[in-house]
Amino acid sequence: MSGTYRSLKGTKDILPGEVEIWQFVEKVVHDVMRAYHYGEIRTPALEATGLFARSIGEHTDIVGKEMYTFVDRGGDSVTLKPEGTAAVLRAFVQHNLGEQSGLNKLYYISPMFRQERPQAGRLRQFHQFGAEAIGSASPALDVESMLIPLEVSRRLGIDGLTLKLSSVGCEKCRPPYRELLIDALEKVASQLSEESRARLRQNPMRILDSKDDRDQRLTAHVPLIKDHLCAECREHFEQVQQHLRSLDQPYVVDGRLVRGLDYYTKTAFEITSASLGAQDALAGGGRYDLLAEELGGAPTPGVGFAAGIERLILVLSKKKLSTPAEVHPTVFLVAMDDASRRWAFRQAILLRSEGVVAELDYLGRSVRAQMREANRQQAGYVLVIGERELETGNASLKNMETGKEISIVLEDLSAALLSHGEKEKS
Ligand code: AMP
Repeated sequence: MSGTYRSLKGTKDILPGEVEIWQFVEKVVHDVMRAYHYGEIRTPALEATGLFARSIGEHTDIVGKEMYTFVDRGGDSVTLKPEGTAAVLRAFVQHNLGEQSGLNKLYYISPMFRQERPQAGRLRQFHQFGAEAIGSASPALDVESMLIPLEVSRRLGIDGLTLKLSSVGCEKCRPPYRELLIDALEKVASQLSEESRARLRQNPMRILDSKDDRDQRLTAHVPLIKDHLCAECREHFEQVQQHLRSLDQPYVVDGRLVRGLDYYTKTAFEITSASLGAQDALAGGGRYDLLAEELGGAPTPGVGFAAGIERLILVLSKKKLSTPAEVHPTVFLVAMDDASRRWAFRQAILLRSEGVVAELDYLGRSVRAQMREANRQQAGYVLVIGERELETGNASLKNMETGKEISIVLEDLSAALLSHGEKEKS
């Protein structure tokens, strides 16, 4: 490492050689979203701070201590988006998308920003892909939200994932449950961790997924919301499970699953991978039937998920699955003198316009050094051009893998490259 400046803590450069796997994952995401008929939406990196405070909830970790919030030069409080759903719903309401179509199925691939303590699988700028189905209360769409990240994982060759499922109730059944839970927690409050004690009144459900062993033991028998749902939430939860069973999709009901965002109603889920260690969540999501209204829109039910791309790639790298290689030039044009260099440059531009990956030397290197560079770049073919070749219009094209040379007419270079490429493939 050298230089005066470093990338900020918790942020990462994605270098050539690594970026190919990102492009591959993104392509799979686009393909799966296309099959599920979700349309892409891109929202700004910056939003009004109030949007997140209002939707994610004042007493959540994200809003309370993780957002990159600052006052801009105009005096407005703005925030780098920490998650996608609030921004997509803001756009949905702002542009009246609900009036144009009964159901809007939208997806995104985007960086997100949270000032968390950096550790394996936890960054301050990370990337998510996610989807939102806005306009229907159908449990089939809850299930789609679970299946999309599972299908992306399947196409990437990732298996051994666990789908954890719960229901967090609604505005009818959650308040009475909350009182029940607080009553039960107060009995053990003095023994709870400091963090959990602080949550007791503000966000008691988060105490259920405390990582502290003692908290876990103390709360082992407190009431769980899944056992205190109203009839409507219970019916919805049952239908979600029926769909999953009819699709033979394994899942586990985890009554202690609480997502760190306040806007969820009814379904909440997480997809985890045992190969990830402490930060084992690959994706999470749920239903948010009150969110559009909360943001000033008409009451509109919705459901969605977000998956972490860095974590998916971490799983891929642990499994040592074959990932796409860097691009190598189809042909490297080696030039012997200045006139040949000019020809090679023009020729490379022409070849590229025809879709051939062409490279040449820009550093004034000797012919030998150019050959070495062609080798280092693992070029498929090398064409050496000098005065004689330009005069006669004939040259020899060397296949770098077999070492064989073939005579070609320079004018037919791209045809020769394309036809030999085809022959080698077959
Ligand atoms: P969340 O919005 O917190 O439910 O996160 C959804 C998914 O995004 C998680 O399951 C992770 O895969 C990923 N994720 C969340 N926070 C981070 C982070 N700080 N660094 C990397 N990935 C993250």
